[in-house]
Amino acid sequence: MSIPISAFGWDLFGSTRKVSSHYADPYPGVVTRKFIKLPVGAVRPEGWLKSTLEAWAGGITGHLHEYRSDTFWNTWDNRRSRSEQGRLHSWWPFEQQGYWADGVVQLAYILDDERLKSIADELINKILAGQNADGYMGCVPDNPYSNDGDVYVQSQLTLSLMSYYSATKDPRIIRAMQRGLKHIYENCKPLPVKEGQLARGWVGTGWPYSCHIIDAALWLYSKTGDRQMMNFADLIYRAMQEIPSDFEIRNLLLDGDTLYDNHGVDVGETIRIPAMYYLYSGNSDDLNASIKGLDSVDRYHGQVHGGPASDEHIRETGAVNCTEFCTHTVFNYTRLVLFSITGDVKYADAVERTLFNVGQGAAKPDGKAIQYYTAPNQVVCTRTSCNAADLGPRNRRQLFRPDGDPEVQCCIGESTRLYPNYVRDMWFASPDYGLAAAGYGPCTVSAKAGRKGKIVTIEEKTKYPFEEKIHFVIKSSESIKFPLYLRIPGWCKDASIKLNGKLYTDSVRPGRMVTIDRLWACGDEVELNLPMKIRFVRGDKASVAVERGPLVYALKIKHNWKKVGERFPGFPDWQVSAGSDWNYALCLKLGYEWNKNFPSIARSPEPDWYFTIKYPKVPESSFPWEYPPIELVCKGKKVDGWELIDGDVTPDVPQSLIINDNPEEDITLVPYGCAPIRITYFPVAELKRK
Ligand SMILES: [Zn+2]
Repeated sequence: MSIPISAFGWDLFGSTRKVSSHYADPYPGVVTRKFIKLPVGAVRPEGWLKSTLEAWAGGITGHLHEYRSDTFWNTWDNRRSRSEQGRLHSWWPFEQQGYWADGVVQLAYILDDERLKSIADELINKILAGQNADGYMGCVPDNPYSNDGDVYVQSQLTLSLMSYYSATKDPRIIRAMQRGLKHIYENCKPLPVKEGQLARGWVGTGWPYSCHIIDAALWLYSKTGDRQMMNFADLIYRAMQEIPSDFEIRNLLLDGDTLYDNHGVDVGETIRIPAMYYLYSGNSDDLNASIKGLDSVDRYHGQVHGGPASDEHIRETGAVNCTEFCTHTVFNYTRLVLFSITGDVKYADAVERTLFNVGQGAAKPDGKAIQYYTAPNQVVCTRTSCNAADLGPRNRRQLFRPDGDPEVQCCIGESTRLYPNYVRDMWFASPDYGLAAAGYGPCTVSAKAGRKGKIVTIEEKTKYPFEEKIHFVIKSSESIKFPLYLRIPGWCKDASIKLNGKLYTDSVRPGRMVTIDRLWACGDEVELNLPMKIRFVRGDKASVAVERGPLVYALKIKHNWKKVGERFPGFPDWQVSAGSDWNYALCLKLGYEWNKNFPSIARSPEPDWYFTIKYPKVPESSFPWEYPPIELVCKGKKVDGWELIDGDVTPDVPQSLIINDNPEEDITLVPYGCAPIRITYFPVAELKRK
């Protein structure tokens, strides 16, 4: 049965637009994206960002297939024996390998690393060679779609193929994906289904998982104009609204103001789909569903570190409430899609917040281990320290391990694409032949700009987010006229821009993209100054967190790493615990609206008044996540009785206001990403003197 397009009330195929960009797809849809993706490899990291990516290349991303070859390398070779195992275990490895495949492909071509490129090439060849003669590319070659996760597996696998195509333009990719999706469309439609039943192969652990194959269907349509792919996308989108599931897209479309209790990763992935479909439907209800859904996650579940509280399922906020690593990657991916479609700076701000804080803070700086679960306040991470809600007490998922969780390797796979997704989308093309800076950090972008499509290289020199200034140098073989878009973060009230040493503007509004449209000469320089003011963020139990620019700050606590096993040579399991006192309240002046259960903070002085900024001497060419180059010093006082539960579980933040006679002491805060052991949500005490 085919679904008539007229059911949606618009003519899909008659009206794709011409877009003025050298990077626009041939079939971009009826709505023009505000910003268009550049190919993988157009942005090259420099400075601390390059060091961080190189750590991952020498760490998890570059070696996961060796020390966990069972999941990440032999997966496709062993498809037949795997399909005889239990329901979940028969498709999980394919899902997880799909994540890593995307991570290693992107990292290889972003770093232009020959070793990684040969791994990526071999992996892609292996995947393409494993495709059945009839086009099927799922995980049960002898009995297609007999497995619940079969379509979901392919949705993740195809993301890695799309990245590979972006980097190499290998024509085999489009052909293989077309054959693969055509096979699903013709043999495993999600509709029609009998009442109370779902189509086999589409169920997963809640049907929306599988619907992410719409990414691939829309992508294929955008490249080829193949109407069957758009019919498939229509069918999936319609099924998402008709089939009951544990995360119903129809609720998102009807009422985006929602308290979620679903698997956070699933929410993060699914919530972008209406916005992606909007590019082809032109129906603003679709776009608004994604916008409202993401807003709801942030409003009701957002933690200061940038992610929702989500230890598997999304839950209420709280200082010791954990977030699963996968969540960091999928929400950032979704935000980058939303930024590309809407141009709304708040999504790019949120991407930086997540990466620099909760994402980096859940990874060992050497790129060799991650936490499956991480929390804003964690002062001990051992085999028995984690109290995440879904698994019950004392699970091991707060350890730093090279496979996240040995049984469930989703997070380790997803971890490998967190940084590559960021670097890839630091720069976009604009639909007026321009270039746009979305995420900041040291890098170089080379891309076509101006009507004639000449290559422009822009060097971005900065230590951002550890400093406020970003210096751009334009390089090109001739002068080129094009608009340069610069993101002014929502947190920056006093941004200013200099052009070739002279003030260009100092009246730019926060949360906007600023455009400089001119004839650029080789050697032109732009200096963007983003003054970072300190802000207080209120948390659970009237606690306070501290932000400055895109960075959240946490108490500097001496942290003791200890190996607790080395299942894979060179990649140990680590616990980490506090080697100094951590039970500090932040001493602040109180406001007049007195309420001892929710003490107000004085409006004056400004938050900056409380802090002295220090730039400690760090070892030459050291790594910022290991040796923080910036610290904040302020007053704190110890909170009696705020101690570990049973000696090894981080206690919740105590209710403010804290009243005691303990002395006020200088305490030091460091960037969250530098603090594997940390207090982020502080209780509040009244500042008596500074
Ligand atoms: Zn995970």
